Amino acid sequence: MEITPSKQAQVGRLQVRRALPRPRRRTIGAWCFADHMGPADVSPDKGADIGPHPHMGLHTVTWLLDGQLLHKDSLGSEQVITAGQLNLMTAGHGVAHAEESTGHYRGTLEGIQLWIAQPESTRDGAPDFEHHADLPRSDLTGGSATILIGEFHDHASSARRDSDLVGVELDLHGDTELALNPAFEYGLIVLRGGVGLGQHRLGIGELAYLEPGGDELVLTVDDTSRLMLIGGTPFESPIEMWWNFVGRSRDELAAAYRSWTDDDGRFGSVASALPRIPTSPPFWITA
Ligand code: MN
Repeated sequence: MEITPSKQAQVGRLQVRRALPRPRRRTIGAWCFADHMGPADVSPDKGADIGPHPHMGLHTVTWLLDGQLLHKDSLGSEQVITAGQLNLMTAGHGVAHAEESTGHYRGTLEGIQLWIAQPESTRDGAPDFEHHADLPRSDLTGGSATILIGEFHDHASSARRDSDLVGVELDLHGDTELALNPAFEYGLIVLRGGVGLGQHRLGIGELAYLEPGGDELVLTVDDTSRLMLIGGTPFESPIEMWWNFVGRSRDELAAAYRSWTDDDGRFGSVASALPRIPTSPPFWITA
């Protein structure tokens, strides 16, 4: 088992703990990015306030523990997400979105946004957006699991997935035994509280990596804890990732950068009052 700390980063106005990617661990299954944001105090007009920005070759998975966000994208979707719901956006060849304040919510905002790399078969395909207000839940010895995507303990989410993977939120108050798929590698991220795994202790912001082959995971829990369990079959190929894009080569990433900077229509437009987010060129491009 590998345990790694998160990296602190800033996204919009929010501090985040970036658990993935790690220098030596780019993907877990197809999962390639995990940002735990907040908890932060937000007001009706001052929240995450992440202006329009593009994505390519990935799905974004947005999950809140507390608060509300307004998702807008270049497909025309406008969707408020609240705690316990899933927003799943598929970028494919290109999409843009913004994550705004709702205009009415005041309180605490806390959540996690994860990215899933799309496989060769869909990564150049059409963008899409799904909102899931009701997700399957499974009772565990020491709490419960909400299945965001994939299958877990005989429950299956209806959310789209393009490869063999699972994403589950665990809400635990006591020791728990989880059944694992031996074909999957897994990552466990603590969002609140902390858990014991054998002789290891995992706290907020830490990621535990479990290689394929295991069929169960025993967690010791002495305080109410919230965790994200992600897993999948090891991804089909290495990926290249830069800014908000996942591809297979630097040329693809550079082309996406130019499309966004030139605003050539590839990523569409988002009906947002927030300014488009610019970026500087990839480091391998010289003037
Ligand atoms: Mn985004």
